[in-house]
Amino acid sequence: MGQSDITIIGGGVVGLSVALGLLRAGQVVTVLDGADGDFRASQGNFGLVWLQGKGAGFAPYARWTAQAVAAWPEFAATLRQVSGLDVALSQPGGYEFFTDAAELADFAAGLERQQANLGYKAHEILTGDDLRRDISGIGQGVVGASFCPRDGHVNPLRLLRALRIAVVTMGGRIVADASVTKIAAASGGGFDLTLQNGTKRGAGKLVLCAGLGAAPLATDLGFTAQIRPQRGELLITEKLADRLPFLSSTIRQVDEGGVQIGGTHADAGLNDAETLGMMTGLARHAVTVFPALAGVRVVRSWGALRVMSADGYPVYARSALHPDACLVTCHSGVTLAPLHASDLTDWIVNRTSAPEKGAFDDTRFALSTAA
Ligand SMILES: Cc1cc2nc3c(=O)[nH]c(=O)nc-3n(C[C@H](O)[C@H](O)[C@H](O)COP(=O)(O)OP(=O)(O)OC[C@H]3O[C@@H](n4cnc5c(N)ncnc54)[C@H](O)[C@@H]3O)c2cc1C
Repeated sequence: MGQSDITIIGGGVVGLSVALGLLRAGQVVTVLDGADGDFRASQGNFGLVWLQGKGAGFAPYARWTAQAVAAWPEFAATLRQVSGLDVALSQPGGYEFFTDAAELADFAAGLERQQANLGYKAHEILTGDDLRRDISGIGQGVVGASFCPRDGHVNPLRLLRALRIAVVTMGGRIVADASVTKIAAASGGGFDLTLQNGTKRGAGKLVLCAGLGAAPLATDLGFTAQIRPQRGELLITEKLADRLPFLSSTIRQVDEGGVQIGGTHADAGLNDAETLGMMTGLARHAVTVFPALAGVRVVRSWGALRVMSADGYPVYARSALHPDACLVTCHSGVTLAPLHASDLTDWIVNRTSAPEKGAFDDTRFALSTAA
């Protein structure tokens, strides 16, 4: 790859993963990150590296996620080598617990569709009695679960820190408090960027990874993707010496000992405040699944906004107006980090084919609007 000067707008998990891939390919990379008050999904997420249920309705996403999950051990080892930090990757397999038989049947049907898309089976369905036999302490209210042996998790805040250190160690530059407010094509090629603080900067190639902050800039660059927030709420308990005997999509124990409980979804615009109703529901769910949690103190709760495209799948798009500008945005940026740091690199630098034959291009939104 020839060397180019690439500016990444957004220094969350997505922008930093992309930056790391570009740096490893020998590119000159600057990351412009926004302000501390920005919405930052990378600082509020659940840390799952998760395949179960992903891509039931879209085969490229099922395959892409499976590839990412498989790439995680090597990615974690690279991060450890370059940053010196262990992101606590653990892939013991994960459960989706259900207290309602109809909801389990519905989810199982989705897993069958995911299996058809993957071309192999990556899950099993267990009854409540199976679970109570295999895992000590599962509550009587659990009617069953699905299990995927490939599922896992990391420490998400340490991942963000490891990515930052790795980017700087590899020679990248991260500029904080550098919110971009305007992008214009420069007369001699490349781009002129205007920052919130009034300063101007030039950029050769651009990769827009600004999470929810990408929406106005994406429009400037001619992308059709609509980026919307979706609120999730979480609880974390005091640190426990005992290890939780399972990992699930809603209850997991962080390597440091706290039990994190989450999994809510709400369309609440740009309001990321947690709500008592959701907190109560999360606590009730956790105690139903694993009654021993009833005696454990919750020490913190928070809400955070997911970065969602219109159909919930990633967007990897090159601007038709300005081919040196790409948009990279997704939900599940933790899970997909290894591929953002590898498989997107050649596409960004050399304009080679996009992942999954362009299935994640934003033209899919233009087509669906037209239909
Ligand atoms: C509650 C919740 C649970 C989640 N759980 C999981 C999970 O278990 N597993 C998983 O894989 N994913 C999960 N996710 C999703 C994951 O957190 C996101 O996909 C990922 O963090 C998105 O990263 P990002 O870099 O795109 O966005 P962000 O983290 O939002 O970062 C965007 C960055 O861009 C900067 N920025 C914004 N505007 C500008 C601008 N104009 N100029 C310059 N910089 C700008 C911001 O300051 C910010 O640093 C979860 C998300 C939430 C909210």
